[in-house]
Amino acid sequence: MIRKKVPFLILFAAWQLLILNNLFSQAPKLIKTIVVDAGHGGDRDPGAVGQYENSLRSKEKDVTLAISLKLVEELKKQLPGVSIRPTRTTDIYQSPTEKAKLANEFHGDLFLCIHADSGPLKSGKRKIGSKTVTRYKTTYTGKGKNRKKKRTAYEVEVPEYEYFKYPLTRSGTSVWIFAAHKTSDKLKAIMDGDENFEIETGGLDSLENTLDFKSPEGRTIAAIYAKRYQERSDLLATLVNGEVERTGRTALGVNQRQVGIWVLQATNMPAILIETGFINNPEDERYINSENGQQELAEAITKAVMRYKAQVENTNYIPPVTTGITKTSATDQAFEKRTTKDVTTIQVVNEKVNVDIYDDGEIDNDIVSVYFNRELIVEKKSLTATAHSLTLNLVPGKTNELVLFADNLGSIPPNTALMIINDGTTRHEVRLSADLKNNASVRFELKNNN
Ligand SMILES: [Zn+2]
Repeated sequence: MIRKKVPFLILFAAWQLLILNNLFSQAPKLIKTIVVDAGHGGDRDPGAVGQYENSLRSKEKDVTLAISLKLVEELKKQLPGVSIRPTRTTDIYQSPTEKAKLANEFHGDLFLCIHADSGPLKSGKRKIGSKTVTRYKTTYTGKGKNRKKKRTAYEVEVPEYEYFKYPLTRSGTSVWIFAAHKTSDKLKAIMDGDENFEIETGGLDSLENTLDFKSPEGRTIAAIYAKRYQERSDLLATLVNGEVERTGRTALGVNQRQVGIWVLQATNMPAILIETGFINNPEDERYINSENGQQELAEAITKAVMRYKAQVENTNYIPPVTTGITKTSATDQAFEKRTTKDVTTIQVVNEKVNVDIYDDGEIDNDIVSVYFNRELIVEKKSLTATAHSLTLNLVPGKTNELVLFADNLGSIPPNTALMIINDGTTRHEVRLSADLKNNASVRFELKNNN
């Protein structure tokens, strides 16, 4: 029974909150279900669209779906005991309310929303030629009743312009959580336990499924959800930002807002929204539309989820086994125990780059390993005067890095390699020197040439 005149739903939510707050400090919460939402969808809601000149004209709804499908696969692979529930797997429209309801119906322990960013574009115009147009001059002759109007045609040259939109210069991935600080005083008082109340909770299990989050009660519950899960949402967001940074992409940090991310507060679980990249930035647009970029984001988010899961469940984090020939122990050895000192940055215009590696100078039995974007691609090969050839597929929208790791020093230290790098347009010669403490690397800056 309700004794005080406090709205019933507020009481229910506050009661839940108090109980869960206690649980948080005592027992770890198991992550059993993860909900993945591909933002936007259907003809009604395409989201942001690539609109700058020469853009791929990609639609946010398609990008979010492609990344989400890969994320679902990756999460299933790395977390076989966890139920992974997508809100959509096809191009269908869902309102934010529907998305939130689905997540609540799935009883998710985490809600991951995948989006792509956009920003206002500046317009430009350029002269593309000129054309002749006919204009008329009106003159009058005579006076009074004899006054007559006379039109004379004349020709004039006018410039012809073409209008276009400049691409966005901002780029990078950002993570968003709902800002729960604007909680009402009334609500705060209840949550702080100032109000003495008692409620009956029988038969309330289906409440979430029928609750209208746009009603005043719904908004209150939503505010409580957001407040309750703020700490965990923030933890997960921080971990995702960190994993994105490790891929070499610009990570724009964890941000809070209330506008436009309503769906996050309407879910009864920690929730984050990931703006994977700017659809109106050429590098970012290509990155979020590429198989490599989508897969890299899916893997980065999955690693963050695994770290999060280990933290809240109080278990040890086991890094996921990634595809390809990457060996985690070797990679750790290469990147955590050594520093990369000798860095050469070169600019290339094509995504496909050929690299020939030779021993530089006297052939002294140097043995090296080579990593590309932290993946082992050459394992313990001796450098000779004959080229060891590699083809790299650069990932747009991030810094691509080729790292030379010395497995020994040969008979004449340090370990030196000559790399002939060709992107199909320009040939670069790079000399790299690595030893048992330092790696050497080549960073590729992919310049958009269209
Ligand atoms: Zn969006």
